[in-house]
Amino acid sequence: MEKETVSLIIPCYNEQATLPAFYQELQSVLQTSPYHYQLLFINDGSKDDTLSILKTLAEQDSRLSYISFSRNFGKEAAMYAGFRNAIGDYVAVMDADLQDPPHLLPTMLEILQSGDYDSVATRRVSRKGEPPIRSCFARLFYKLINRISEADIVDGARDFRLMKKEMVEAIMHMQETNRFSKGIFGWIGFRTYWLPYENVNRIAGESKWSFWKLSKYAIDGIINFSQAPLSIASWFGLTITALDFVAVIFIVIRRLLFGDPVDGWASLACIITFLGGVQLFCMGIMGQYIAKTYTETKKRPHYIVADSNLEHIERIG
Ligand code: UDP
Ligand code: MG
Repeated sequence: MEKETVSLIIPCYNEQATLPAFYQELQSVLQTSPYHYQLLFINDGSKDDTLSILKTLAEQDSRLSYISFSRNFGKEAAMYAGFRNAIGDYVAVMDADLQDPPHLLPTMLEILQSGDYDSVATRRVSRKGEPPIRSCFARLFYKLINRISEADIVDGARDFRLMKKEMVEAIMHMQETNRFSKGIFGWIGFRTYWLPYENVNRIAGESKWSFWKLSKYAIDGIINFSQAPLSIASWFGLTITALDFVAVIFIVIRRLLFGDPVDGWASLACIITFLGGVQLFCMGIMGQYIAKTYTETKKRPHYIVADSNLEHIERIG
């Protein structure tokens, strides 16, 4: 029987400090593996020596391909480029910083081989080594998004997962510009096995995710997969209108019974500013959705390739 191929997609942004160690660790796992491998590194506009390291490695290792973007397009775009160019029967996405341990690959392949699952996803069982405030917000985010969206997202889920090519094909049909992979994986369905493992810290370099960037990513995720904020805005409006109606009746009756004492301007001012705030807030929510619609309608490419050692590659994807 011919050997099956496994494609590994590795997005890299300023990973010169981690790449050599990552490659070495990967090597030790692949040596004993009975599969063919395609190592697909995506250089996401790194400003350090990532690309030259990849080029050197590619000269020594014929399984290694690289795609280098014209600028930093983000990890989501890098993963998308990887999916488009992966040729494997099985495809996995993994980080370059060894936070997604390569030694889990054989177990993941075995689980898929058993035929009961279409993908094996990894889940951190602890968030050791992470700032507590970050863990706290992350938990809150997962609770919220699962409640209000149809994308089923597991707390602690990493992007590290191995999939059959059928699943990758489904992902390719999710053409949105605003990509949120955690949601996309959940939305397309299929049978997923969750493999728990202890959190590992990145071996070198720094995380590219500041707290601010993560918060923005979380809000994007919610807006991409849920219309709940819009309904919240409508319900908010409806409730305030109902309360206002009751208040008007109360005021009219009081005026008829007790005359018109001139007071209450302070409460009036409060009500007006409060309502102004609520209106701006709801308009802001609507604005977020309109902004997303705006970027989607432009249909801009997800990424632009500046350099690659792949023969057949679409430069604009
Ligand atoms: N990454 C990328 N483009 C970016 C940011 C990150 O390709 O704009 C890659 C990065 O090189 C790494 C992976 O995505 O391989 C995860 O990034 P990081 O380790 O910074 O995220 P964290 O593990 O802290 O969530
Ligand atoms: Mg990392």
